[in-house]
Amino acid sequence: MNQSAIPETSAATTPTAPYLRGLNDQQREAVETVDGPLLVLAGAGTGKTRVLTARIAHILVTRRAWPNQILAVTFTNKAAREMRDRVSRMIGGAAEGLWIGTFHAIATRMLRRHAEVVGLKSNFTILDQDDQIRLVKQIIEAEELDDKRWPARAVHAAIERFKDRGLTPDRIGVAEAGDIADGRIGEIYKLYQQRLIILNAADFGDLLLHCLTVFTAKPDVLAEYQRQFHYVLVDEYQDSNVSQYLWLRLLAQGRNNICCVGDDDQSIYSWRGAEVGNILRFEKDFDGARIIRLEQNYRSTQQILSAASHMIANNDGRLGKTLWTEAEEGDPLEVHAVWDGESEARFVGNEIETLQRSDTSLNEIAILVRASFQMREFEERLITLGVPYRVVGGPRFYERQEIRDAIAYLRVIAQPDDDLALERIINTPRRGLGAATIQTVYRHARAQEIPLYESARQLIETDEIKPQARSSLRKLIEMFDRWRFEAQVTDHVELAEAVLDESGYTGMWMASKAPDAPGRLENLKELVSALGEFESLAGFLEHISLVIDRDDAAAGELASLMTLHAAKGLEFDNVFLPGWEEEVFPNRRSVDDGGSAALEEERRLAYVGITRARRRVWISHASSRRVYNQWLACAPSRFIDELPEDLVEHVTEPGLSGGIPEPGMGALEVTWVESRTGRGPGYRRMKEGEPSAGGSPGGGEVINAGVIAIGDRVFHQKFGYGTVRSNDGGKLEIEFEKAGRKKVMESFVAPA
Ligand code: ATP
Ligand code: MG
Repeated sequence: MNQSAIPETSAATTPTAPYLRGLNDQQREAVETVDGPLLVLAGAGTGKTRVLTARIAHILVTRRAWPNQILAVTFTNKAAREMRDRVSRMIGGAAEGLWIGTFHAIATRMLRRHAEVVGLKSNFTILDQDDQIRLVKQIIEAEELDDKRWPARAVHAAIERFKDRGLTPDRIGVAEAGDIADGRIGEIYKLYQQRLIILNAADFGDLLLHCLTVFTAKPDVLAEYQRQFHYVLVDEYQDSNVSQYLWLRLLAQGRNNICCVGDDDQSIYSWRGAEVGNILRFEKDFDGARIIRLEQNYRSTQQILSAASHMIANNDGRLGKTLWTEAEEGDPLEVHAVWDGESEARFVGNEIETLQRSDTSLNEIAILVRASFQMREFEERLITLGVPYRVVGGPRFYERQEIRDAIAYLRVIAQPDDDLALERIINTPRRGLGAATIQTVYRHARAQEIPLYESARQLIETDEIKPQARSSLRKLIEMFDRWRFEAQVTDHVELAEAVLDESGYTGMWMASKAPDAPGRLENLKELVSALGEFESLAGFLEHISLVIDRDDAAAGELASLMTLHAAKGLEFDNVFLPGWEEEVFPNRRSVDDGGSAALEEERRLAYVGITRARRRVWISHASSRRVYNQWLACAPSRFIDELPEDLVEHVTEPGLSGGIPEPGMGALEVTWVESRTGRGPGYRRMKEGEPSAGGSPGGGEVINAGVIAIGDRVFHQKFGYGTVRSNDGGKLEIEFEKAGRKKVMESFVAPA
C-alpha cells in the first residue's frame, strides 16, 4: 500500500480524541511527534508503554499509515497481544495487519519470505536449545576438540554471544576468538552454521542475524521493507542487543520515523547480550533525534516510588531522573524478617489469604523472585492453600527440564518398571546410548512384554548391542542396582545427592557455560532440599505426582509467580519480593563474576521489582536457608539497607529479632540454626527503634526453658536425637546422632 493512497485528515487530532484523553503534556507530545527519530527516556510507570500504544492509535486514526506500515516491537508475545488489543479499543475497530511482536517473531516472519537468500527453505525449523547443543557436540567430536575442556554447552554459549553481537563466522577474528575452543571457535561456528543450513534449520540468534545478511546481500529487499514501514516503534529499548539494534537501524533508515521507549534503570538483560549503550547512544545514531522525558509516575504510591528512586540512586552508571506522583502517600514498604524458606512461604501465603478475605483479586497479587529455585516453596504453599496461581514466563518448578530429569532418576530407583522415567534419562547425560541401541532395547521389551529396565538387563548379557554401548548400558544398570540397594540403607536426601553426582547429571550442567546452567544447578539443589522435608523417597514421589497432576484452574483469577526478569513492564496492586538476602539477591554468583557492573544490574532488578507495585510491597528475608542438607545463616540484602528508613516498616517473626545479622554482611557459612519447633503462629510487628524482643516474644511457645542439663538426651525437630555437650546461657551444643555437632537454642529441643 502506498502512502499517497491514504487521505490526509486531522479531524481525529482534536483534544477529544479518546486515546489522547488524560495524557499529560509530555506524553501527548511523545504521541504526536510522529515524524523523525524520538527517544522516550523515562522511569518506571511513567506511561512509556501507554504512549507507544497511543502513538500507534494516533498514526492509524490520523491516517498517516495503514496497519501494515507500522512495525512495533515488544518484549514478549503477551505484551504484543495486549498492545494490539489496546490499540483496537482505542481506535474502536480491529487493528489487523499491524506488524507487532517480539524481535524474534517479526524476524522469523521476514526470514521465511527470503529464506533462500541465506540458503534455507521457507519452511525452515527453529531448533530448540537441546538440538542446538547436540549439533555443536557433533561438530566438537568430528573436529576432535577436547570436549572436557570445551564442552558443547560452553561452545554453544560462545556462538550465541557472537550472534547477539551481530557477528557472522567470517567476522570472528583472533581478537574475538581468544582461546575459546583452543582459538578455533570461528571454524566451529562456521561448521555449525553449515550444518544448520543442511538441516534447513535456524537457531534463535539466526533469526535476526540471517535477516541482517538478507538486508546486506539484497539491498532491494531491505529497500522494500524500508518503504513499507513508515513507522517503527520499540518498547523496552534498554534491553536490545547489538544485532537487534542493527536490524532496527536498517529497517528505520528509510523513513527515519523511529520511536524507542526505555529506561536505563531497568536494563536487566546484559547476561543475554543486551547493551544499555544502545539507549545511551540514540541521539548519535539517529540524526535529528528528539528526546522526551516523562516524569510523572502513574503507577505507584508516593512511598513506593520514593523508596525505589532512593535505592536506585546508589547506582553510578545512570542518566538519573526525577520522578513524582500525584498518587496518595500509601503504606510503607513492609520488610519481614522470617526464620527460613518455609516460614517465608507461609508468611506470604497468610498475607495472600488476608488479601483475598478483603476482596482483593488474585490477579492483583504477584510474587517476584530473583531465581527460579525460589519458586518451589511458594508453589507448594499456594497449592496447599488452594490458591490458584500461574508461573509467568517459564515452567512451574516441578515441570522444569532439570527437575523432571532428576525426578526420573529417582522414579527408576523407586520403581524399575517405570519405562517413561527410564526413557527420559537413559541417555541423559549422554553416555553413548544412541537411537539404535535404544531401539533394540525397545524391541526386545515389546517382544517379551517386559519393562525396558528388564529388557536392558537381559540385553547386556547378549551381543545384540555393540560392545561400547553395551558397556555403558551395563554401567547404568549397575548404578541403578546399587542406588536401589543404598535406598534401603541410607538417608534419601544423601541418596539423591549421590545419584545426581554419580550419574553425571550435575556434572553435565556444571560443565555447561550456558547462561541458564547455574540457575538449573540451583534448582537441583532446591530439589534435594525439598526431599529433606519428606520422610522417604516414596513419600516425596507421591507428593510430586500430586503436585504435577493437579488440575489447573484454567479460567478465573490467578496469583502470579515469576522471576524479576519476567516481570518487566507488568504491574500489580500487591507485590511480594522474597529472598532479599545477600547471596540470593544480590545474586552472589553474578556479582562474583561481574563485579560492580553486575551489582548495579542486580540493583536495577530490585528497582524493577519494587516499581511493579501499585499499592503495597512486602519484602522478606530469611535468617537461614536449607541448601542440600545444610542450613546456612543468611544476612539481609544490602538493598534493604538502601531503602529510606522512614518509608519502611520492619516486621520480625517471633524470637528472631536478636539474631538478624547486619545488612550487607554476607552469608555466614555456619550451621548455627534454631529449630522451628517453638515458633508460634503469630507475627509481631515491630517499629524501627523498638527494643528487640529477645526471650520468648510474641507468643512463641517455649518448650522447656531451664530444664536441660549437660549429658541429657534430647530431640530436635531438624537434627533428630542427640546428647547435650555444653550449655552457654541457653545456647546448647549438642552432638546429634545423625547430624553431628550443632549449636541450637535450648527452647527448641525437647527431652528425649
Ligand atoms: P515500565 O517502565 O514499568 O514499563 P511504563 O513507563 O511503560 O512502565 P505504563 O505501563 O505505560 O508505564 O504505565 C503505568 C501505569 O500508569 C499504567 O497503568 C497506565 O495505564 C497508567 N498511566 C500512564 N499514563 C497515564 C495517564 N496520563 N493518566 C492515567 N494513567 C496513566
Ligand atoms: Mg512499559
